[in-house]
Amino acid sequence: MRILIVEDENKTANYLKKGLTEHGFTVDIASEGEDGLYLARTETYDLIVLDVMLPGRSGWSIIKELRSDGIDIPVIFLSARDAVHDRVHGLELGADDYLVKPFAFSELLARIRIILRRQPLQQPDVMRVEDLELDLIRYKARRGGISLDLTAKEFQLLSLLLRRRGEVLTRTTISEQVWGINFDSDTNIVDVAIRRLRKKVDDPFPHKLIHTIRGVGYVLDELS
Ligand code: CA
Repeated sequence: MRILIVEDENKTANYLKKGLTEHGFTVDIASEGEDGLYLARTETYDLIVLDVMLPGRSGWSIIKELRSDGIDIPVIFLSARDAVHDRVHGLELGADDYLVKPFAFSELLARIRIILRRQPLQQPDVMRVEDLELDLIRYKARRGGISLDLTAKEFQLLSLLLRRRGEVLTRTTISEQVWGINFDSDTNIVDVAIRRLRKKVDDPFPHKLIHTIRGVGYVLDELS
């Protein structure tokens, strides 16, 4: 799951990014309104956490633009403005939720989870390919009934491959989806992560699921 945070207070943005990353999300940050709108239009996110008062372009204006373009990605507003009419305005513009600063991180996390769970195209709680099983609620992976000891990043990488099984993913797509675009991207990191993942997911088993497509990237599929 990939989240865009549009927030001009670096401290808040970094704090949210750290917390959400620890909970298995991939997070990009935009600290300016125009950048936020640009990323929301050009990248694929599951949810946007949107500050209202931003340099360049306000959160109100960003959601208006997105909704008028037909982009209906879920939005949670974050704002120090707690007047009822501000909250109502945010929701009327098409936001899914409105959180008044200061707020507890656990509350934001709970609201994000509720919104993501009610998405119509929401993935199932457990994804399976052959004998590989990924439980997205409990963050557990098993193959052939044996539980796999994955790091948070390995779990994210495997869930991306599984969600888009059969589709060849380039190193760029993988690094954007798992590490985020703000990550100082060294393409080698994808190869290293895949190698580590294979050690746990494929090496102990005769039937391989992760395949290298030379010159392109990686695909998870049943074909061996
Ligand atoms: Ca602000």
